[in-house]
Amino acid sequence: MRLTILGCHSATPRADKAQTSQILSTTNHHFLIDCGEGTQVLLRKAKTKFAHIKHIFISHLHGDHFYGLPGLISTFRLLGREAPLHIYGPKGIKEAITILLKLSDSWTNYPLHFHELSSKVPTLLFSDEKIQIHTIPLKHRVYTNGFLFTELSKDRKIIFDAVQKHGIDVSQINNLKKGKDATDSVGRVIPNKTLTLDPDRAKKYAFCSDTAYFPEIIKVIQGADLLYHESTFLDDNEELAIRTKHSTAKQAARIAKSAHVKQLLLGHFSSRYKNLELFGSEAAEVFPNVAIAHDGMSIDF
Ligand SMILES: [Zn+2]
Ligand SMILES: [Zn+2]
Repeated sequence: MRLTILGCHSATPRADKAQTSQILSTTNHHFLIDCGEGTQVLLRKAKTKFAHIKHIFISHLHGDHFYGLPGLISTFRLLGREAPLHIYGPKGIKEAITILLKLSDSWTNYPLHFHELSSKVPTLLFSDEKIQIHTIPLKHRVYTNGFLFTELSKDRKIIFDAVQKHGIDVSQINNLKKGKDATDSVGRVIPNKTLTLDPDRAKKYAFCSDTAYFPEIIKVIQGADLLYHESTFLDDNEELAIRTKHSTAKQAARIAKSAHVKQLLLGHFSSRYKNLELFGSEAAEVFPNVAIAHDGMSIDF
């Protein structure tokens, strides 16, 4: 998986700080997660092809997480999009978008499918042969979900030299990937292990958008390879974090530690802080494998 951070700052954008938006690239998808103002420009900068985006996940209806969506929907039409677009977000998102389209006498030439969410328990949103996506219900001032992306077990890797050496017909490749033995041209059975290697480990990404410290998510995100968790504040503003239902860097680290995730990535920083390194140092006291997000960064995992 590759995660590209388009924007990772809270509430007010600055010249060099964009609001929440990111792209998760998997074997066969580019998922857009949240869509703050200016996401279209950030997608251009990240050289993401607009046509690759077929599914958009919106955590909640605060402006810094979805005010970029109407513009993006409109641009898709101007670019001549025909492929369907699926939008997953809180109940009300369909009304918000359609009223804007209606008032501007606008429309889409492509099918726009809204999947409105209101459940407070983890819910399966999407699944195909490679990946499953569930909600991670969070605790914020409005109804909010994070999203958990879980790859399904991958295919075994073909050793092409061995396949050639044993004269295995290409029609058997798919069965080999699934772990079955093969048969050579004279009918001898060639064990799968001779022809394939173990698959890459399936990965798990947990995106936790705006939330108060909420230990209930620990069981949902258990063992994730990468956890993106908001950390709007440092310890000095823990009271404010409680009042506004946000988290501190240290609280995010406690979640990462209890959930035994492999890596923590912090984001959604309040613009009051000039030195973002402090987020890393406060979190590292609890959970050492922590990184600070910045706009435009990519992580492969
Ligand atoms: Zn926010
Ligand atoms: Zn919010």
